[in-house]
Amino acid sequence: MPADNTPAISSTRIVLARRPHGEPTPDDFRTETVTVPAPAEGEVLLRTIYLSLDPYMRGRLSDAESYAESWAVDAPLQAGTVSEVVESRSDRFSPGDLVLGYTTWSTYAIAPAKLLRRLDPEAAPLTTALGVLGMPGFTAYAGLTVIGRPQEGETVVVAAASGPVGSMVGQLAKRAGARAVGIAGGPHKCAWVREAGFDAAIDHRSPTFVDDLAAATPDGIDVYFENVGGAVWDAVLPRLNRYARVPVCGLVSHYNDTAAPDGPNRAPALMTRVLTKSLTIRGFIQDEFVADHYKTFQQTVGPLVADGSITYREDIVEGLQNAPAALIGLLRGDNFGKLVVQVAAPGASTP
Ligand code: NDP
Repeated sequence: MPADNTPAISSTRIVLARRPHGEPTPDDFRTETVTVPAPAEGEVLLRTIYLSLDPYMRGRLSDAESYAESWAVDAPLQAGTVSEVVESRSDRFSPGDLVLGYTTWSTYAIAPAKLLRRLDPEAAPLTTALGVLGMPGFTAYAGLTVIGRPQEGETVVVAAASGPVGSMVGQLAKRAGARAVGIAGGPHKCAWVREAGFDAAIDHRSPTFVDDLAAATPDGIDVYFENVGGAVWDAVLPRLNRYARVPVCGLVSHYNDTAAPDGPNRAPALMTRVLTKSLTIRGFIQDEFVADHYKTFQQTVGPLVADGSITYREDIVEGLQNAPAALIGLLRGDNFGKLVVQVAAPGASTP
């Protein structure tokens, strides 16, 4: 029992039951109930309200070498979360405060107060801290402005264009005076991408995709913001102009791969194209740009979201128990907009 004699709190959490092979299945996840310890000095007890599901999580479920550590089997999965402070052992926060943090797939969590950021629900809807105004929005901003550097009149192409990264890329490209072409899966997503202000939207699931991309990029492609890889990259590569820039942000079409694709080694053809077209292909992980660019992102993009100049779409799934299925679906393109799990209602009373 906590020191102040408040009753012990039970938390429902989801742990990694085993490492997925290929596409994750529900059996790779397990739900547990645990008692949450009392927060130590400098910590707070949090009630999770929103939990962010993101494609990078597939990499953390695997033990393949990557830029970040794998999540351990039998340990709770981690995520960006919006939470309410229930109990505080820090003078930074009081019960009732709303915070952005990196915690776990759980109904309650303990976190060091110094790693939390206070959120103002009057300034922007809480979910935006996980999407358009959070890590994915910043990823788009940093990758496009630092590596893509679109110029007036150039053509910028991005896939997963209805998602939080892709939709921001296209809208920022438009603001830079470029032509923005979005690639998305299915007519309903393409319709929304056009509504968001892209000059064209193309369905990568259509049998005419390659021809549609050519028709939408009559002057070739100057910036290809790579989110997916696979067949989309195959269609884009021949259309890249001289000096084109390719920020490599994600390769979601490969995240469930278990082996290299069949066929000849295409690296020589790729490298020949890199040489003859003077291409810049630069991978990045958004963290590397935080120190130099996060503040500018907030100052620039925050007001544009607030006044509706930049639009966004969210896909809210109800209930922590539905998080595994939602993550599995995200990797197939089932989500339509930033995928967020609502774990509890904001403002509901503490236990
Ligand atoms: P989204 O919410 O857009 O979800 C992923 C989307 O990828 C799906 O909805 C689907 O959209 C598309 N997709 C899935 N499989 C395929 C496929 N085989 N071919 C083409 N498209 C596919 O994701 P985010 O906006 O959160 O992330 C976009 C990318 O950015 C991801 O690759 C992610 O890993 C990466 N990322 C990288 C970061 C970094 O620091 N480098 C940080 C954050 C994100 P559709 O149905 O339209 O095809």
